[in-house]
Amino acid sequence: MGIALIVHGGAGEIETVQAHRRGVEIAAQIGWDVLRDGASALDAVQAAIIAMEDDPAFDAGFGSFLNRDGIVEMDASIMDGRGLDVGAVAGVTRVKNPIALARRILESEHTFLIARGAEEFARERGIALVENETLRAPEQIAKWKEWLAHPPRAPGGGTVGCIAVDRDGNIAAGTSTGGMKFKRAGRVGDSPLVGCGTFADNLLGGASTTGWGEAITRVVLAKFAVDALANHRDPNAAAQIAIEHLANRVGGTGGIILANRDGQIGFAFNTPRMALAFVNEQSRSIIAEC
Ligand code: ASP
Repeated sequence: MGIALIVHGGAGEIETVQAHRRGVEIAAQIGWDVLRDGASALDAVQAAIIAMEDDPAFDAGFGSFLNRDGIVEMDASIMDGRGLDVGAVAGVTRVKNPIALARRILESEHTFLIARGAEEFARERGIALVENETLRAPEQIAKWKEWLAHPPRAPGGGTVGCIAVDRDGNIAAGTSTGGMKFKRAGRVGDSPLVGCGTFADNLLGGASTTGWGEAITRVVLAKFAVDALANHRDPNAAAQIAIEHLANRVGGTGGIILANRDGQIGFAFNTPRMALAFVNEQSRSIIAEC
């Protein structure tokens, strides 16, 4: 048993490799510091994801891909492996950190709020609403203008996620995204869906996924991978089996991070790249890859 944390910054044809690697490294350090201070797995997941939502390198929060209408429209979910509490949001356009809103939903009587209703809930709970323009990074506005003429070839990359195991053995997982590049307004992928983008259960482990959301949703990938931990002590083996299932069953592409209740971590992807960083009590220093 030991504390552990793993983050990802999306899987796909990542163009800005250095920025992604640096961003996941910083987020892992922030989450790790929170865990080491004795805070909960949920707090660590939230802190690490907020760091990536605020980093324009990633397709989450500020820097999200714009949808066809030129709007940032975001989805997020967070899950507490203690009692299987979930908080999720979809289609929010006026919240700087959707994962913080998902956390407030987790703490409420609800599990999932969307669009205007989610924003109204945010306002009631003291989360400031921002103008959508303030979430549109200049690089993304430029890309969106290109996409109007030539729709993007590779649709994803840059969603963020995190799993943490804390001192008390509690496991939490979360995922946040601006969704696929140039998506149709109102389109929602796997990221906010419990069991698809995010899953955590103290009895087995936690998972966060990224990639082609429609395919990931069909195989309920995060739950599939956590269930695979029951038969595979090594999370790398369970992650690999999950990605093979995604590819073989529905022809999907993507990546997954996984942690078991012993604080062992694993990941797998079938895309050209995946950005991730991890640390546990054995390694003690952050290992980042992209
Ligand atoms: N899975 C996300 C979605 O479909 C996108 C991604 O992870 O790149 O919205």
